Amino acid sequence: MIRRYMASSSYSNSPCAACKFLRRKCLPDCIFAPYFPPEEPQKFSNVHKIFGASNVSKLLNEVLPHQREDAVNSLAYEAEARMKDPVYGCVGAISVLQRQVIRLQRELDATNADLMRYACNEMPSTSQYGRRTGQGEGSVDQNSGYYNFPSHWNNDNHE
Ligand SMILES: [Zn+2]
Repeated sequence: MIRRYMASSSYSNSPCAACKFLRRKCLPDCIFAPYFPPEEPQKFSNVHKIFGASNVSKLLNEVLPHQREDAVNSLAYEAEARMKDPVYGCVGAISVLQRQVIRLQRELDATNADLMRYACNEMPSTSQYGRRTGQGEGSVDQNSGYYNFPSHWNNDNHE
């Protein structure tokens, strides 16, 4: 059963990135080897720094083998985001995307409303456009209940 992984992964003589980092012998049944190839040392070091190698190993043993690659990739994504932003991590990225979705949804609603008016041969008046100016940055949570993160998350220059 274990041999399957050896055949399918980039397993070779060199230890996987995890074992190399942890300075231990990479055995043929190493749980990390299929997901942390030696060519990507940063992937493991990020995940180890944020989650800890023993937690990752425990998690990999708890999920089904076919889910392990996805689990590792999501851990790597979360770890990298947490390294970049120690305060919000990937939650910050989620929040930015949620705000985008809400903003685009509003734009779409407004455009659909305009289309309806045109379809009804009604000329849109200036007051109807005025309604759209209320897309301030901080007003997102009123309808959605999403947590409102500070807008500085969008750019890299903090203060
Ligand atoms: Zn290994």
